Amino acid sequence: MDSAQFRKAAHAAIDEIINYYDTIGERRVVSEVEPGYLRKILPDGPPQEGEKWEDIQKDIEAKIMPGLTHWQHPNFMAWFPASSTYPGMLGELYSSAFTTAAFNWLCSPAVTELETVVLDWLAKLLNLPASFLSSGEGGGVVQGSASEAIVTVMVAARDKYLRESTAHLEGAEREIAIAEKRGRLVALGSEMAHSSTQKAALIAGTRFRAIPAGLEDNFGLTGKNFREIVDQCLLEGLEPFYLTASLGTTATCAVDNFGEIAEVLRDHPAIWVHVDAAYAGAALVCEEYQQLTHYMDNFDSFDMNMHKWLLTNFDASCLFVKRRRHLIDALSVTPSYLRNEFSDSGLVTDYRDWQIPLGRRFRALKIWFVMRTYGVEGLKNHIRNTVKLGELFCSMIQSRPDLFKVLTPPAFALTVLCVVPHSKSPASASVPQPKAAREAYSNSFTPDATSQALIDSNLLTKQVYEAVNSRAEIFVTGVVVKGTYAIRVVSANPKAEEKYIRRAFEILVEVAEEVRNQVGG
Ligand code: PLP
Repeated sequence: MDSAQFRKAAHAAIDEIINYYDTIGERRVVSEVEPGYLRKILPDGPPQEGEKWEDIQKDIEAKIMPGLTHWQHPNFMAWFPASSTYPGMLGELYSSAFTTAAFNWLCSPAVTELETVVLDWLAKLLNLPASFLSSGEGGGVVQGSASEAIVTVMVAARDKYLRESTAHLEGAEREIAIAEKRGRLVALGSEMAHSSTQKAALIAGTRFRAIPAGLEDNFGLTGKNFREIVDQCLLEGLEPFYLTASLGTTATCAVDNFGEIAEVLRDHPAIWVHVDAAYAGAALVCEEYQQLTHYMDNFDSFDMNMHKWLLTNFDASCLFVKRRRHLIDALSVTPSYLRNEFSDSGLVTDYRDWQIPLGRRFRALKIWFVMRTYGVEGLKNHIRNTVKLGELFCSMIQSRPDLFKVLTPPAFALTVLCVVPHSKSPASASVPQPKAAREAYSNSFTPDATSQALIDSNLLTKQVYEAVNSRAEIFVTGVVVKGTYAIRVVSANPKAEEKYIRRAFEILVEVAEEVRNQVGG
């Protein structure tokens, strides 16, 4: 493809993308294809001779669109959003055009320097303490995902712990002590923390213990439960070295009790605390949420995904650390071909030492474009509007206590609800499911379910969830919270509007009534 052909193709592609965004609401939000659909309609191998762009482009609508679930659809209310905006896309386009695998400053100084600048902007915007800024001993780095950020900091935490806890030893004695300690290391996270902490422990080669969540505050982690597990680990001869504290858990957007966690750290200062704010961290751009950063100076690292709620295209997971040297100590390996005078001078940042891969994309561009296009006020407005929509949705759900129960108070544009079996005639009485299937369901999904009422509600809620998604007008997520099956509805999509939220409520009511009538409840 030469320049003239690229110009023509790019214009056609941009036109098609704009049209897609303008009409996305007319599409079915969830794909209907069967597994393996694409293999059946694509040839066995690539063409021998190159094809014209016009022919390739046609296959977007014909072959790819049917297999897409439209995350940018205003009725996409599942999981957490993956934001996409035009400035974010432009950032991706330029990044792709420049394609600089900028692992070291020397590779392309602008890539490194823009990242440092925009992440300092973001740290200030999120009200993180000054210790997380690059002007001190900290700094930010863009990672691909919150999971990647957790692995990265867990490795740094592990090495710091092993280094510092054996600092009084030398030579072979130290090596042996480190080897012995490795087998005793435990990473911690609340049972409601995202599974990426458990996965990170797998990768880092440490044990993992889940801490029971509290029953208040949307099931956040309490200091008491944290302390009990730490004490228990120590009693067993294990060495807790790391905790993921959540600012917005996946299931209910709980915020762990940071004040109490900080209190426990006074007795256990060697434990590295990482704050996983993957989704809800975006809310910190608004002053009314900034009290959540009050204890942040007690913690070691913080990560939030601009690509979830802050209008930036995937991927833009922004990791901040209080002491960058801990990342560099753990992750810096410098063969001769990566050495250069600038790195040796110590005057530049080489982000390869702050992450797992070597090469990296120019992700700071899209963050810069988004911040400049929306401005701070635009970002705040987006958060506030979508939070308000969540509150509106929750109030609608609460207006039908005969049909729904809100499981946890609305938080960060998320509503978590259950369907209530009919009070006079328990849904369980005529749920058309064999006993064995019901037991299998309650065993696999509701380990804490003890009462028949809970089992009834769980079955009904799951049926409603499945019926809502199979209608495919809106797309929501089912979740099990401490044995209770619930439906999560998120109103944080960049295209979210009141009319869509109202329609989502109507659909839930229609489906819940329909399912309840069917099961005789
Ligand atoms: N942490 C929380 C609280 C999440 O909700 C998620 C995903 O939704 C993650 C971490 C993992 O995010 P990522 O896909 O960026 O790895």
